[in-house]
Amino acid sequence: MPVTAAPTELIPDTGVLIGASRTSATSGGVHRHVYAANGQSTAEVPLGGAAEMDAAVRAAGAASDGWRNTPGNIRRDLLLRLAELVEQHATELIGLQTLENGCPRQFASKMPELAVDHLRYNAGWADKIGGEVVPTWPVRALDYTLDEPYGVVAVIIPWNGPLVSVAQMLAPALAAGNTIVLKPSELAPFTALRLGELALTAGFPPGVVNVVPGAAAGGAALVRHPGVDKVHFTGGGPTARKILADAAERLVPVGLELGGKSAHMIFGDADVRMAARMAMSGVIALSGQGCANGTRVLAHSSVYDEVVRTLTARLARVPVGDPADERTLMGPVVSAGACERILGVVDRARDEGQGRLVSGGERLGGDLGDGYFIAPTVFADVDPASELAQEEIFGPVLACTPFDTEQEALQLANGTRYGLGAYVHTTDLRTAHRVSRAVAAGSVWVNGVPGVLPSTPFGGVRQSGWGRIGGEAGVREFLRPKNVWIAT
Ligand code: NAD
Repeated sequence: MPVTAAPTELIPDTGVLIGASRTSATSGGVHRHVYAANGQSTAEVPLGGAAEMDAAVRAAGAASDGWRNTPGNIRRDLLLRLAELVEQHATELIGLQTLENGCPRQFASKMPELAVDHLRYNAGWADKIGGEVVPTWPVRALDYTLDEPYGVVAVIIPWNGPLVSVAQMLAPALAAGNTIVLKPSELAPFTALRLGELALTAGFPPGVVNVVPGAAAGGAALVRHPGVDKVHFTGGGPTARKILADAAERLVPVGLELGGKSAHMIFGDADVRMAARMAMSGVIALSGQGCANGTRVLAHSSVYDEVVRTLTARLARVPVGDPADERTLMGPVVSAGACERILGVVDRARDEGQGRLVSGGERLGGDLGDGYFIAPTVFADVDPASELAQEEIFGPVLACTPFDTEQEALQLANGTRYGLGAYVHTTDLRTAHRVSRAVAAGSVWVNGVPGVLPSTPFGGVRQSGWGRIGGEAGVREFLRPKNVWIAT
């Protein structure tokens, strides 16, 4: 069956959103968006350059005082109203999400609900932000803190899950009283632009949320802008280095949510079939293009063969194909460039013997030949020092390696430069607690793959970044305490 045509009728106004105005006459060039499932061109996306970033930062700056002084209950209610609008427009947003990066409907259909949860959770913080009274000595005084917003926050996000990314970042930043210039990736700008429109409809004052899709040059102009008080970046390590270098010029703070090479650690006492099923999500979810996907499988040697066998057999039955088909579990990767890069990693791994290819490893043809589909790919017996085991591939490729002891499992799990997530599979509570403490990761999930929850802090250690999204920590990311000392 050929892939269903892209639902281009859903594409919103692609002009940049600055204050309450839209313009398509931008200085950053144009990106031709392509539907990843069939290579069809869908829209020309005007990109923000330095001029639009300047205008957006000025609009956010002009709105800043009014927004930070808006009472928390009103900020709360506006976020709740936006959540309601996301709910009402869920069908449209699901279609847009599928269109912009090829995410299968079955997966995309969970995104509005998750975005709504992030909005509502953070709305609940908006009327509770204050400060604390602090004891002082040796001089007795009244000392208290005021939790203040930064001001104008530049939020730069990738293309892999924009609807949830926008909700995850915007909700706490707005709850905390910041105004925003959001720069979505040029590859997937539609849901971000639509959410910007919905924020205006919800009643957010113009300038509080500005949305300017852009490429690297636009992003850099935004980071360098003197009116930006904080940068919050989600994306890859190489871009993070450039952003930090630009931010260093102005000594502006930067929150970083970066990539990972998270491991499933399957111990000998685990429910092996269940663990293997969960490990499959490392390749299936977003076609392996999720920052916290468990893309390494480390299994105790007593269960290793069974894990690899189960994974391979089940992945062979995963419905890969038309994102619009409700039965599809895995869609294409985001672009022709990504497809070529991922297959390059696979070819090198095969040629250099980094591991034993046990399934997949090729681009899918036939009806899917015009899209960027890669078969779910599993390598077994992967050399822990190899590219396959060390580098974030950001595609549907799993690397399996056996271990004999808990210490070895931890050495392998901690043996990359990343530290985003870790998945532990065991029926022994003592193992679960010991390993959770010892593993180098910002999040540990034991016997489950729940995704990124609104109420829990999510972020990385090491080169997976240092920002936190979710929970109270996620709101604190966008606040800084001012201390007030009053002699008594
Ligand atoms: P990327 O680093 O190429 O781009 C991310 C964003 O940065 C895009 O909007 C891009 O236009 C912008 N950008 C590029 N160059 C810039 C510059 N010099 N200055 C300012 N902005 C610039 O990443 P990507 O390919 O879009 O996304 C994939 C990466 O994102 C992966 O590494 C993935 O793990 C990571 N990611 C992390 C999280 C997390 O929460 N930790 C979530 C999703 C994705």
